[in-house]
Amino acid sequence: MPLLVMKFGGTSVADLARIENAARKVRREVERGYDVIVIVSAMSGKTNELVGWVEQTSHLYDAREYDAVVASGENVTAGLMALRLQEMDVPARSWQGWQVPINTTSAHSAARFVSIPRDNIDRKFAEGMKVAVVAGFQGISHEGRVTTLGRGGSDTTAVAFAAAFGAERCDIYTDVDGIYTTDPRITDKARKLDRIAFEEMLELASLGAKVLQTRSVELAMRYKVRLRVLSSFEDTDETSGTLVCDEDEIMESKVVSGVAYSRDEAKLTLVTVEDRPGVASAIFGPLAEAGVNVDMIVQNISEKDIGGGPKDVTDMTFSCPVNQVARAKKALEDARDEGHISYADLVVDTEVAKVSVVGIGMRSHAGVAARMFSALAHENVNIKVIGTSEIKISVLIDRKYMELAVQALHDTFELEKA
Ligand code: ADP
Ligand code: ASP
Ligand code: MG
Repeated sequence: MPLLVMKFGGTSVADLARIENAARKVRREVERGYDVIVIVSAMSGKTNELVGWVEQTSHLYDAREYDAVVASGENVTAGLMALRLQEMDVPARSWQGWQVPINTTSAHSAARFVSIPRDNIDRKFAEGMKVAVVAGFQGISHEGRVTTLGRGGSDTTAVAFAAAFGAERCDIYTDVDGIYTTDPRITDKARKLDRIAFEEMLELASLGAKVLQTRSVELAMRYKVRLRVLSSFEDTDETSGTLVCDEDEIMESKVVSGVAYSRDEAKLTLVTVEDRPGVASAIFGPLAEAGVNVDMIVQNISEKDIGGGPKDVTDMTFSCPVNQVARAKKALEDARDEGHISYADLVVDTEVAKVSVVGIGMRSHAGVAARMFSALAHENVNIKVIGTSEIKISVLIDRKYMELAVQALHDTFELEKA
């Protein structure tokens, strides 16, 4: 039997009516002759609520119990989806992560797949089951504890199942009808793309476009999964949505193909740190150990080099997610108290956002940075930190200008035009 993976995100299973709507889409594929593995998210808002309950109960919570709680949202929708399909006379069964089993590392709240043995699900398909409904976002560690894959992780569950079961395609059903040049919530000039290259989607996702979890794109690229994003609220067929595919399957070639943003960033500056070998390691080592995801890093030139005085001192600036600021501050203060680093001040700005332009065309075109900076200057948006790689340029700016910056960049690079 040919097999499809169909993933339904939170808004697509937000209530019983929507679960029924999703189930109809699944039934249609079964009628077309497919076996289907359905991956479900929790009902929209549910995971946030569960995370909130954990945080209210325990400030520096035990990550194993965090996972035990937040994984539960997907258990509910998996069971309900299987029941709804059965009501439609589609033979279906639900599977929680441990039942498959979805073996993961024990990095709680950020676990990675180790293996997905097929035997249990294959046996049920052989017995006549048409649909396996699998709870997304979760797995089991070798210690036998429930794990989760990080926010948005159901996308990654879907791609991993598509790879493990050799699915013809992995369809990600969501509340937008495809991948756009930027988040369609920010500008109505955003244009839907028919196709996007893995590399570009990988950058967009890692720079904040939450339409796909970064890791899902990585896996799809590595295992050559045909990955598609489409609407669960519209009638769809084989040509709907956006296909994420290899660069050489794409006709369109723009220098910049998308704009991404990450709203909840923070900028921290260590003022007057010694400029000597090992100082970066003394700062970023403890941050890594504390689980802080440091993103952009800037080190100023030494004061001595600009004739500022006899001592080699510099400022070190970095960014991280705003909800990790408390952890970052504690790690730095501990490192200072233990005598590993010294600094005069720690300046924290929690009101910043990151805006990025992405495009594989940047590899061969110069001048993208200049155009980007001039567009921002034109809107009077001050740039606080700049970061670049082969196919992206990112800037940290005041959060209140984030929408404006996205719109200005979308206009400057004429992304509304095909
Ligand atoms: P789901 O619950 O289905 O997983 P998400 O909320 O995680 O859905 O992802 C879909 C959302 O991603 C859209 O509603 C949209 O606001 C946002 N988004 C951000 N960037 C993009 C983009 N470039 N194209 C499409 N959607 C995007
Ligand atoms: N429910 C989880 C979350 O909200 C996983 C997912 O929906 O992909 O992050
Ligand atoms: Mg999602």
